[in-house]
Amino acid sequence: MKHAALWVILLTMPVRSATVPHNSRHASTTQFVDTSEVRAALAWFAHNLTWINEQQIRLSEIPAPPFQEAQRAFAVKALLASSGLEVQIDKTGNVIGELRGANEKEIVVLSAHLDTVFPAATDVKVRHEGDRLLAPGISDNGTGLAALVAIARACHESRIKPRRTILFVADVGEEGEGNLRGMRALVDAYKPRLKAVIVMDGSGTDHVTTKALASRRLEATITGPGGHSWSDFGMPNPINALVRASVRFINTKVPVAPRTTFNIGQIEGGTSVNSIPYEAKLKVDIRSESEDELAKLESALRECITAGVRDEMESSRDRSKGKLEWKVELLGNRPGGELPANSSLLAALRSADEYVGNQSRVERSSTDANVPLSNGIDALSIGAGGTGGGAHSLKEWYEPAGRELGLKRVLLTLIGVSGIAEEKAR
Ligand SMILES: [Zn+2]
Repeated sequence: MKHAALWVILLTMPVRSATVPHNSRHASTTQFVDTSEVRAALAWFAHNLTWINEQQIRLSEIPAPPFQEAQRAFAVKALLASSGLEVQIDKTGNVIGELRGANEKEIVVLSAHLDTVFPAATDVKVRHEGDRLLAPGISDNGTGLAALVAIARACHESRIKPRRTILFVADVGEEGEGNLRGMRALVDAYKPRLKAVIVMDGSGTDHVTTKALASRRLEATITGPGGHSWSDFGMPNPINALVRASVRFINTKVPVAPRTTFNIGQIEGGTSVNSIPYEAKLKVDIRSESEDELAKLESALRECITAGVRDEMESSRDRSKGKLEWKVELLGNRPGGELPANSSLLAALRSADEYVGNQSRVERSSTDANVPLSNGIDALSIGAGGTGGGAHSLKEWYEPAGRELGLKRVLLTLIGVSGIAEEKAR
C-alpha cells in the first residue's frame, strides 16, 4: 500500500463529527484514527457475530467462582493466542495478551474480568429463549470476555499495528471479596508505562463510568466469656453489645450529597438459645462519593462498637467472669478516584460515541477502573454492547442485538488512545 493511502489521520477534531464534541474545550487532544486497517477491523464484527456469540456461550459455561477463575482463564488464553498475541498468565491469575506497539514504553490496557459472583455448584449451562441467552454470568461478564477476544481477533485479522502497546487482559478478582486483586496486580506491574485502562463490564452502551465509587467492607467481632442463660445471667453478652452498637451505628447521619451509604449486610453469632454467646459478628458495607465521608463513617462504626461494648459492660451485673473484647477488620477497600474531564481517554470515548451515533451518560460506580483511577491513571468502564439484565442473579440474561455498535465503540476508543503506528515504524 502506498504511503499516502495509509493513514493515520490524527485530526484536531473528530473527522465525522456533525456536532460540537462534548468536550469541545479540549477537542484538540482528540485523536481520531481513520485508516484502512481500522475500517477493516470495524467491518470484521458484522461478519463474525455468530462466532462472537459462540465464544460468549462457551466461556460463560466454564464456571469461574471467586478465586477459581483458572479454567476459564486457560480458555481465554487459547483464544487470545489464536489471535496472534503473545499471551501469559501472571502470578495472580490474570491472562495478559500483548499486541506490541511501535512505542513499547507506553501501554494501554483493555480488560474484562473473568470471575462471577456464583459459587462453584451453580448451573451455568446457557439456555436459549428465542434470541435471548440465559445463564448466571452470561452478561456480567460473559459479554465483556466475548468482546475482549473479538476485538483482539478483529485487530489481528485487519493487521492493526498500534502506536502504544495494547494489553488485552482477562483479570481475576473483580467481584466481592476478590477485592479487585487482579487489577491491583496489573496496575502494580505496569504502572510506570500504563497510560490508559478501558474496562469492559457487562452489556449496554448507555453509560460510561468515569468516577470510581469508594467503598469499604468491615467486619466487627465482639467476644466474651460465654455461659449459661440462667446460671450465668448478668455476665456481659456479645450479642447484646453488638445490638447496642448496631442501634447506635444505624442512627449515624450521613450526607445526601456527597452521597454516602451504609448497610449492615450480615450478622451472626451465638451457639444456642440457652447459652450466653462467646462471639457475635457483623459485616458492614460503606460507600461514598467522598473519601473523607468514608473515613468518617468508618470511625463512626469503630466508635459505635466501642460504645456498644461499654454500655453492655456497664449494665452487666457480673463482671467477675471476664470482659468483652472487640475488633473491627477491613475485609475490602475499593479506592475512589475520577477521570479528569479533559483526559484524552474521555475525548476518545466521546469521539467513538459520535462516530457510532451513541449517547452515553457519565456514572459513578465501583469497578475495576477504581484501581487505575486511584493511582492517577486514566481509566473508564463501559458495557460491551447488546442488552442484558439480572446481573448477579440466577435469572441473568443477554440479548446480542446491537452488540456490533458496542464493539465498534470500544475498538474506536481503544485505537483512539493507543494510536496507530506510522508506516515507517512497522
Ligand atoms: Zn462485572
